[in-house]
Amino acid sequence: MLKKLVPRQSVHTIYDIDANHLWGFGVRGIITDLDNTLVGARDPHATPELIEWLNRLQKMGFKVVIVSNNNHGRVSAFAEPLGIPFIHRAKKPTNVSFHRAMKLLGTNARQTAVIGDQMLTDVLGGNRMGLYTILVQPISIKDEGFFTKINRRIEKWALARMKK
Ligand SMILES: [Mg+2]
Repeated sequence: MLKKLVPRQSVHTIYDIDANHLWGFGVRGIITDLDNTLVGARDPHATPELIEWLNRLQKMGFKVVIVSNNNHGRVSAFAEPLGIPFIHRAKKPTNVSFHRAMKLLGTNARQTAVIGDQMLTDVLGGNRMGLYTILVQPISIKDEGFFTKINRRIEKWALARMKK
C-alpha cells in the first residue's frame, strides 16, 4: 500500500515537468488534476502561464484531460474556456474515472501520465493502474477542504513511515 503512494516523479510545479522526457518515454496522454495542481483551489480560471503550458503540450502532440474530484460547476467553468475535456466528481483514487479519461485520450496505461498534488488520490489511483505518476507540490493549502486536510495528514504519516 505505501509503495503505491510513491510517485514516479516528484516536482515543484507543473512547469518543472520535462515534457520531452515524457514524450521520449512514450507518454502521449496526460491526466491532470485541477485544484492545487494547475491553479490554487480557489482560483476560478487558468493563468496566462498555464494556458501557454497547455498549448505547448498540445502542440507537441500530447492529449490532455482534466480529472477532478470537485463538482461540475467548478471544473466546467475552468476547463470549458480552455477547450479541454474534463471529468468532474471523479472519485479518485477509484479506477473508473481513470479508465474514462484514457478512453477520452485514446491512450493505454503505458502511454498515460497522471499529474496531481495528492498522494492518496492522484498518485495512488494512477499507480494502481500502472500510469506514469507525477506529484507536484500543492499551490496553496490554506483554503483546502476538510477531507483534503485529512488526506494531507495521512500523506505526512505515510512519508514519515517510508523514510524509516
Ligand atoms: Mg488537487
